[in-house]
Amino acid sequence: MSEERSLNFIEEIVEEDIAAGKNGGRVLTRFPPEPNGYLHIGHAKSICLNFGLALKYNGKTNLRFDDTNPVKEDVEYVDSIKEDVKWLGFEWAEELYASDYFDKIYEFAVTLIKKGLAYVDDSTAEEIAHQKGTPTEPGTPNQYRSRSVEENLQLFADMKAGKYPDGAKVLRAKLDLAAPNMHLRDPLMYRIKHAHHHRTGDAWCIYPMYDFAHGQSDAIEQITHSICTLEFIPHRALYDWFIEQLGIFPSKQYEFARLNLNYTVMSKRKLLELVVDGHVDGWDDPRMPTISGLRRRGYTPASIREFCERIGVAKRENMIDVGLLEFCIREDLNKTAWRRMAVLDPIKCILTNYPEDKTEIFSGENNPEAEDGDGSREFPFSRELWIEREDFMEVPPKKFFRLGVGLMVRLKSAYIIKCDDFVKDADGNVTEIHCTYIPESQSGNDTSGINVKGTIHWVSVPHAKTAEVRLYDRLFQVENPQSEDGDFKDYINLNSLQIITTAYIEPDLANATPGTPVQFMRKGYFTLDKYSSADKLVFNRTVTLKDGWVKK
Ligand code: ATP
Ligand code: MG
Repeated sequence: MSEERSLNFIEEIVEEDIAAGKNGGRVLTRFPPEPNGYLHIGHAKSICLNFGLALKYNGKTNLRFDDTNPVKEDVEYVDSIKEDVKWLGFEWAEELYASDYFDKIYEFAVTLIKKGLAYVDDSTAEEIAHQKGTPTEPGTPNQYRSRSVEENLQLFADMKAGKYPDGAKVLRAKLDLAAPNMHLRDPLMYRIKHAHHHRTGDAWCIYPMYDFAHGQSDAIEQITHSICTLEFIPHRALYDWFIEQLGIFPSKQYEFARLNLNYTVMSKRKLLELVVDGHVDGWDDPRMPTISGLRRRGYTPASIREFCERIGVAKRENMIDVGLLEFCIREDLNKTAWRRMAVLDPIKCILTNYPEDKTEIFSGENNPEAEDGDGSREFPFSRELWIEREDFMEVPPKKFFRLGVGLMVRLKSAYIIKCDDFVKDADGNVTEIHCTYIPESQSGNDTSGINVKGTIHWVSVPHAKTAEVRLYDRLFQVENPQSEDGDFKDYINLNSLQIITTAYIEPDLANATPGTPVQFMRKGYFTLDKYSSADKLVFNRTVTLKDGWVKK
């Protein structure tokens, strides 16, 4: 993590609360995902904030599934969320579900009805919206608002018992139809929905609305600091009102700016569209901003936590450049990734003066950036090598320190070679280049006295393994696809995936495992794809070595 930084505004609040002895100094936060999709990098910010506060202030964090909307929720999502939070490096105190509180929340509703603070309304959604008025005109009460407590109790019980179809009735708070805050104009508390729930099955056909479930769940768990994003500011008065009227634990809501990242979209609904319409290969496609996508791409938990730390916690929304996320992973991988050689766009290089049946074994450090080099590995050298096509030029310009007829270069960890000539096919493509090697120039034991400026990577032809290599680019062509005209999917970058079907890699890379980072020297950071197999190795590029994106 980065060096000392000043407190963010939520930490300031928590420290004041602790100093004032509020809740006996206890800190209990919660991370409350709705299990209707996979988590994305925006959720990571919320996770780092909630769990980070608990770690810092000796508190705890609950993982609470906000599962009050049966139609869109699924156990697949519950499982993926748990996996992702754990992978990010956090441990929750308790795994909880808002649906476990359905009985309790129902009792809360009955309490409010008995206090004359809630009523059953038979109006349609359109009528309710109409009767709510506008920000400049107060709403108008309808005939249902004056129903007696007894009638409301009976009707609410009948709603629960399944006597009415979806939409026939709702339970509303009897609050203030003239409130300047529209959220206080008799908000909905319960709706009828005859739908199967992933946990409660068919036990319920009425479900509480967000505003009558979230604060209530917080209070039941005795959450001290309930942190959410800015769009919930207008809900806060309602959050407090329900808690006050029910006389339950006084959890408090605090709002921070959500993370917006450029060249991507972040709402689960939109990400689901990308998956369903086949624009990506699932929620964990390495181009997705999901935690599972980033993991498959080769991001590390530490790099994501560092990113969240660097963007900080603000009260105003802004757009974060994805370059910062890439910076964080580069910094991390530079320290940890083992270096290997891989040729992505191969051309054959024949060393005409090297014996045909000879093989030498050279070695190189796994990571020269690590203090002890992190050990080393061996790789074979022979007369025929694969080198990168771009490392040779037919007509090299001045200051081209790689190969062209008459030019010399060092082969990484091996010899200096000199290019003598090359062969072209009928179409004029260079198919092979011929070089001579300088026997006394061996790395670490160089007595040749020759100085060369360039070093290139290579792989021995008879020993190389093959792999498919996938190069990823931004999923969208524009910074903020959802603010553009038309559908956000019209702005998808059609070149976001480039597949190299045959790359040649050092034999040792056959032992790579998914998630373990490797640097293909001069080419970028890669990791083995989780769906790779021994018969067909597939590597994903996590990030390039340098920021190569040119703003269009
Ligand atoms: P989405 O619109 O992507 O579905 P959501 O807010 O509906 O997001 P939830 O599962 O309800 O998703 O969110 C769980 C928690 O994560 C909430 O506290 C929410 O405020 C927070 N969160 C969601 N998106 C972001 C984001 N982009 N930045 C920071 N926090 C976020
Ligand atoms: Mg949501």
